[in-house]
Amino acid sequence: MINEKINQSKILDNEYYKAKQDRTVRQSFLESIDLTGSLISKLVYIESVTMKDLLKYGFNDRVAQTDTHTFQQFSPIRKRPVYVFPHAFSEKYCQVLGDLLSVIFDHEAFHILQGNANSLILAYRHLRAMTSGSAEIVEKDMISTELPAYENQIKNADDRKLSDKYKSILEQRIDDMIRKWKPISQITDNRLFYDLIPNV
Ligand SMILES: [Zn+2]
Repeated sequence: MINEKINQSKILDNEYYKAKQDRTVRQSFLESIDLTGSLISKLVYIESVTMKDLLKYGFNDRVAQTDTHTFQQFSPIRKRPVYVFPHAFSEKYCQVLGDLLSVIFDHEAFHILQGNANSLILAYRHLRAMTSGSAEIVEKDMISTELPAYENQIKNADDRKLSDKYKSILEQRIDDMIRKWKPISQITDNRLFYDLIPNV
């Protein structure tokens, strides 16, 4: 059984390297990733260059994104699609398959979990941030869900066998967020970063 799993992950590893070279096999590669037990309904490769897509997904600098539809999400088991962008196959972030699986399962699926567990409070915070007219509050709102997701990736780094490069990118991002926002969180709400972590 264990050998079978190792073989399967080797096959997936090879498929990942093929998909890095050949964009035409990327969707079928994503479909070969086992989503059983996750909150992800499907993985969709997006490589459009229309302005509409750029505005919607902002994938210039993203590996993947989930669409949590805050106001429609009242079920703890509600599944969502995850959109995967060209950076999932470039060397900028993801060096090895573990890096990509970390983004998909430890970051994006974690956002679905956050959305499912905190639908109303997230909707309220988001609305409050968007109507505040304050860039600082908008960024705080974003960080309150991003920081726990990055920390969840680091927590599972060894199991995913993250590359050194990707792991240091994650550590740098976490450091930057904490350095920038810690003084503010001490003054206002020191649970800001952590109170949206679902109990798993
Ligand atoms: Zn995120």
